[in-house]
Amino acid sequence: MADKEFNKHRLGFSLNYMNRPASENYPIYTTHDNKVRKHLTQNIYEKLYKKITSNGVTVDKCIQPSVDYTGKIVGLVAGDEESYTTFAEIFDPVIDDHHLGFSKSDKHPAPELDADKLVGGKLDEKYVRSCRIRTGRSVRGLCLPPAISRAERREVERILVDALAGLKGALAGKYYPLMKMTPKEEKQLIEDHFLFQKPTGHLMTNSNAVRDWPDARGIWHNNEKSFLIWVNEEDHCRVISMQQGGDMKATFERFSGGLKEIEKLMKAKNSEFMWSERLGFLCTCPTNIGTGLRCSAHIQLKKLSKHPKFEAIVVGLKLQKRGTAGEHTAAVDDIYDISNAARLKSSECQFVQLVIDGLKKLIEMEQRLEAGKKIDDLLPSGV
Ligand code: ADP
Ligand code: MG
Repeated sequence: MADKEFNKHRLGFSLNYMNRPASENYPIYTTHDNKVRKHLTQNIYEKLYKKITSNGVTVDKCIQPSVDYTGKIVGLVAGDEESYTTFAEIFDPVIDDHHLGFSKSDKHPAPELDADKLVGGKLDEKYVRSCRIRTGRSVRGLCLPPAISRAERREVERILVDALAGLKGALAGKYYPLMKMTPKEEKQLIEDHFLFQKPTGHLMTNSNAVRDWPDARGIWHNNEKSFLIWVNEEDHCRVISMQQGGDMKATFERFSGGLKEIEKLMKAKNSEFMWSERLGFLCTCPTNIGTGLRCSAHIQLKKLSKHPKFEAIVVGLKLQKRGTAGEHTAAVDDIYDISNAARLKSSECQFVQLVIDGLKKLIEMEQRLEAGKKIDDLLPSGV
């Protein structure tokens, strides 16, 4: 009983609904176009209905975005590390579907953060304006944003800021909590592509992960603003390395060096990141598991972006495009954010290499078009 009272307090709803049959609580999906709807049969829902993780997370908590939004989304979030195993019957098929094949026997490769393994990595700055590599990480033992309490969120902030204070040399920096930022400072950091905005995406809003904003949210960065840590946005933290120009290798070197250092500093204080032998690093959204790595360049493609096959070329190279100000924005002056589409099944080095090779190919195509020539022989297979 005490447990149930605790859960009611923490989750904002009582678990008494579980006294009713699962069939009465099964979501009504109509025009919904999400992966949960596709895989959550009534049978699976019944199996998971009464399961609760040790943090009080239920399957209903995890599938809420799939119910509250009808558009094309994944629709699933994890409330804590255990969600991935306690509710494996829905997480596994969704992960398998979204990541284009990840069976029960598949295993994500071990972390590979050695920048010396990269081939090339200095990209033509006539086209590539800036490079950015980010990943998501979660602090083991604490709930993830959809289920986190204010106290735990502040604990995440404390653990991270404490570890980050130990960074030295070019990585040394300072934490700037959102609570203490003036609206002008916040706007400037967002416009300069350094800071996140309050999440408005369906996954985060419908999972109730943006509660208490801006409590315990903030950004840590070094003096150069080339190594940045977002605290308590979509994930416990996002680790970002970015710089002007086309040197993706240097961007990765700073990223991997900084990340290893943070892990070491956390370990020294008995903290670590959530990591699964099979799924790699665990994040709020199952689309971000594995490496959690998105390696992107801001690249200007004046000609290629107007080519009828532009979209197919990007997808064919296993890349993804976003607008100049990030996800859900448009390109300004034909400058696109081009990054790896996947996060799972390949290592960090392999994803960065894929982006370097893909960008080189896009630049080659752009130069051909500038010269008034055809690009047919450069198209990825199937395009
Ligand atoms: P993510 O989810 O990977 O953090 P978003 O699409 O939410 O990425 O974008 C976050 C911010 O990062 C935006 O301001 C975006 O413009 C900026 N950004 C992404 N890639 C680059 C890049 N290569 N150079 C400069 N800014 C970038
Ligand atoms: Mg984002």
